[in-house]
Amino acid sequence: MPKFKDSRKLRKKDTFAPTEPPDVDLQTIQNLKRRLKQENKQLCYKYQSELFINYEKDKEVVDKIASPGQDILVFVRTYHPFMQRQKNPLKQCISILRLNTIIAVLGSQTLAHLRDKISCIADCTISKECSEDLKNAIGPMAKDVYKSGFFFIEDTFYNDSRCPKNTDYSKVIIEWAQRRSNLGPFKTATMEDCRIDSLLLRFGFPWVYKHQGGCEHLIVFSDARLINNNDALAVTAYPRIVRLRPLSSKYCMICGVYNAKWITVEHERIPHNPCYFCNSCFKSYNYVDGEKVGNFKAFAYPRNVEAVRKEKKK
Ligand SMILES: [Zn+2]
Ligand SMILES: [Zn+2]
Repeated sequence: MPKFKDSRKLRKKDTFAPTEPPDVDLQTIQNLKRRLKQENKQLCYKYQSELFINYEKDKEVVDKIASPGQDILVFVRTYHPFMQRQKNPLKQCISILRLNTIIAVLGSQTLAHLRDKISCIADCTISKECSEDLKNAIGPMAKDVYKSGFFFIEDTFYNDSRCPKNTDYSKVIIEWAQRRSNLGPFKTATMEDCRIDSLLLRFGFPWVYKHQGGCEHLIVFSDARLINNNDALAVTAYPRIVRLRPLSSKYCMICGVYNAKWITVEHERIPHNPCYFCNSCFKSYNYVDGEKVGNFKAFAYPRNVEAVRKEKKK
């Protein structure tokens, strides 16, 4: 029998294999020796592209406790939104599915609890053209203004109706399906009333989460088990992100050092469309004494709540 090849090791990118050098009194050699020692100890994990999140136990607010051996814990994989290219029907879904987070949720919690834990860049600040008025570039969070959304699981649309102004996204889809004989019938329900343990669903099958009008994510219920004493037992500790796939940051295309804070489009003095800028490059290249130079459209790079709050405090 040929020896089994460990494909996980093959995926590891390494351009050269350094060997332990003879004793030379150089700091770089000492560092290399230390690194080689550490690498020998490192284990290859199946999930090495994902980060495991450790929570500090003291920070959990304990008011209600889950019962070990009775309450169930369900793990949900959420994916980044995917692009649909309608121009070429043969290649409708081109972008690769990329894992975002794995969320642990209690069976006694609802789909609305799960929804609040799903993060997406579309929920961040609402982008508006602001090249003439930089002070008001960052407005309210999109998720605070446009709160509608649904989960589609098996044959049911679970709509978010916590806010009375929410739009029923499922209505137009159901009407569209009714005109076709091979689709449906579909049911509707509310996500805040649907307990996770009341769902009848297939594990490992992709379901849909839709929000912000057209942002669609696939979600997969991947695992379920009884909660035990090694888990955090405070109910408020859930839903929680247990693993996530790190995203690389968008860097400024001028200096390549700082994170992008601004995006420009149709910029007459830049060959890139769109172009990403950090704060200092954006202001020094595009403004003289606060006056806009040339023609371009500018948008604030979508940022999360914490970043916006910190900026407003400054
Ligand atoms: Zn989204
Ligand atoms: Zn820069």
